[in-house]
Amino acid sequence: MAWSILRRRSARRGGPVVDVAIIGAGLSGLTSARDLKRAGSNSFIVLEARDRVGGRTCNHDLGNGVVSEGGGQWIGPGQTAIANLARELGVETFDSFHIGRTVYLAGHDKFEQDEGDGSMIGGEAVGTLNALARFVPSAAPWTAANAAELDRQSLADWLAQQPLTEDEAISFELTATLTFGAPPAKLGLLHYLSVINSSGCDLGRLEAMKGGAQEKRFVGGSFILSAKMAEAVTGNIRLSSPVSRIAGWDGDIVELHTDREIIRARQVIVAMSPSLCDRIAFDPPLPAGRAEMQKLWPTNGRMRKTVHVYTRPFWRDAGLNGQVIQIGGPLLWSADNSPPDASLGVLTAFVKEAALPADSKKARDMLSAIYAEALGKQALHPVQYHEIDWSVHDNWSLSCTSPYPPGFLTKWGRHIHPPLGRLIWSGTDTAEIHASSMDGAVRAGHRAALQALRSLTEKKSTSCAGA
Ligand SMILES: Cc1cc2nc3c(=O)[nH]c(=O)nc-3n(C[C@H](O)[C@H](O)[C@H](O)COP(=O)(O)OP(=O)(O)OC[C@H]3O[C@@H](n4cnc5c(N)ncnc54)[C@H](O)[C@@H]3O)c2cc1C
Repeated sequence: MAWSILRRRSARRGGPVVDVAIIGAGLSGLTSARDLKRAGSNSFIVLEARDRVGGRTCNHDLGNGVVSEGGGQWIGPGQTAIANLARELGVETFDSFHIGRTVYLAGHDKFEQDEGDGSMIGGEAVGTLNALARFVPSAAPWTAANAAELDRQSLADWLAQQPLTEDEAISFELTATLTFGAPPAKLGLLHYLSVINSSGCDLGRLEAMKGGAQEKRFVGGSFILSAKMAEAVTGNIRLSSPVSRIAGWDGDIVELHTDREIIRARQVIVAMSPSLCDRIAFDPPLPAGRAEMQKLWPTNGRMRKTVHVYTRPFWRDAGLNGQVIQIGGPLLWSADNSPPDASLGVLTAFVKEAALPADSKKARDMLSAIYAEALGKQALHPVQYHEIDWSVHDNWSLSCTSPYPPGFLTKWGRHIHPPLGRLIWSGTDTAEIHASSMDGAVRAGHRAALQALRSLTEKKSTSCAGA
């Protein structure tokens, strides 16, 4: 009886109502969708702006089943949520190649060094940071006892007071830029410590290959996780459906507007970066704290990631691991991204987007010349080149990561998590550990699905009690 009244009411308002609408079909949104399905629900819909799923994970197809990742790719110890997901989906992992010497280029100087675990960071300051990180909980760094004091400083401010060698200073500059998407001068110390906390209070583990966050890759590339999850809920996904307006989030039924339709839902999981939420019109407007936080969300972690493909990983013959670090040049860091059977030689790199020509052929040639200097003349002749400059790619990933500047977390952090009305905030940035990573995205997706199911149950039991 109650159901038929609801259906009549919803029909009057213009269409059926789903239990849950998920905005965003990245790893986070798809994890929620998968969990809802596994919990027995089919009353959900996933709205995705792009014409593909996967968000910040995607593959370059190198032919014959070989891929190189255009976005997120590495996972490591402690990242159990994504490792479990892969296991459940039957996706295997393999060790990232790191054996041999790394080549450093500085002007016309060149030297080689065996980094052991592939970590570029070390020294006394690392121990001090690890000790400080123990008191900065990654789930809510702004609650640390000395949060205000830590958040006043940038990482660069703090490093300036340490007795660093020149090499150590360069390592911090490089690793912060690669891992956080911003140099130490633009990173709040509180944020930096909270990420170390998330990594078992061990900065080395965050930065290393062997035993660290770059330890493993997925056979078939990270995108395969999203593809497999999407396959299982394919009828529930609407691609090319950017949500532009969310109305009635403070009531019982929320309306989500896309160019094509209006979806009505009892709960909404917003599985994307807060900076993208700022592009959605909310009616009624969001409370000032949340709205301002979204507006000020850091989007400077933009990256350009390149792929050079060779017929074989020729650098391995000379005992090199494919890692090239160029001090002061356009190449930040390259890594051997060859497939497990080494049937092709693949170098992936993060580059300073503005220091390379925008034209991809010119960029390819400039990087090939740098590789030739470091690894040998064969590097001049890649058989394929691919790249994604995430700063100009499209409108749906404003930033690869979220590098919080000093002051951000203590001022705005408390607005990141709390649900508002029917809105549940998800996406990697809301994860309690490993935020900003693929593991964080999966964790946030699981938590958001549970929250949605709990709210729906509570709502049902309230209406039963009132009936
Ligand atoms: C170059 C690069 C390298 C990286 N390297 C690593 C790595 O090695 N290891 C690691 O763990 N992580 C890495 N990351 C980070 C990792 O990829 C992300 O943290 C993770 O994929 C985020 O997943 P998500 O679902 O939270 O967000 P997203 O993947 O951003 O998904 C959000 C989705 O929402 C959609 N969307 C946005 N606005 C709207 C709208 N209005 N309506 C509907 N849909 C919308 C987007 O199109 C997107 O599909 C990297 C990222 C990049 C870009």
